[in-house]
Amino acid sequence: MKVTFLGTGTSQGVPVIGCECEVCRSMDYRDKRLRSSIHIETEAQSFIIDTGPDFRQQALRENIKHVDAVLFTHGHKDHTAGLDDVRAYNFLQKMDMPIYGRSEALEQIRAEFSYAFEGKKYPGIPQLQLHEIESENFPVNGVTITPLPVMHHQLPVLGFRIGAFSYITDANFISESTYEKLRGTEVLVINALQRERHISHFNLEEALVESGKIGAAKTYFTHISHKLGKHKQVEKELPVSVALAYDGLSIVI
Ligand SMILES: [Zn+2]
Ligand SMILES: [Zn+2]
Ligand SMILES: [Zn+2]
Repeated sequence: MKVTFLGTGTSQGVPVIGCECEVCRSMDYRDKRLRSSIHIETEAQSFIIDTGPDFRQQALRENIKHVDAVLFTHGHKDHTAGLDDVRAYNFLQKMDMPIYGRSEALEQIRAEFSYAFEGKKYPGIPQLQLHEIESENFPVNGVTITPLPVMHHQLPVLGFRIGAFSYITDANFISESTYEKLRGTEVLVINALQRERHISHFNLEEALVESGKIGAAKTYFTHISHKLGKHKQVEKELPVSVALAYDGLSIVI
């Protein structure tokens, strides 16, 4: 299985429009973070987790020619805004795009992309096939996916586990039952927003505690703000089993 980070930034992305801080002015390509999303390739399947506002640019950059399904962690705009661009895959694959998410996320998608769900459809609009999921495992074309319910302040959000890989992008609380589901994770991706505490995201210190608790052989931090610091500097502070993800990074699991 191969996982590629399409984006590793928080909702505003990095650089932030108009910001003159040293991270936003950095020339290091690892300090350029589009909105958080990953591409998962198994032997026969190609999945996207979240289609944020940068989805088109990300799909072009990584030359993603086929997508079998899109999984949504939650309905926040930085995770859904690019959904219209799955039209390209409707056209290439001549089929509706299967979309998986909790009921709230699907409601949000129905509201924000209402034109895609009208009775009389305008030609060329995205063709979406919505599948509601809860906390039970579900199959997508022969691949078993385990939802990982976590809390993002008061909003229930899903992480996803496939095999020994687990992905959690917007969380600040993990329940005992989800720790159970995370057991045996070899590669973990978890959010680490910034150094200061935040109402709905793990900060750096909390993300380090969580990664220690989950105990994956390798942990990558994502959903990163410009306030976390420069990639090169933050990396030096992390234990060997933990790294900052960056846009374009691919890992084979
Ligand atoms: Zn987010
Ligand atoms: Zn900045
Ligand atoms: Zn969010």
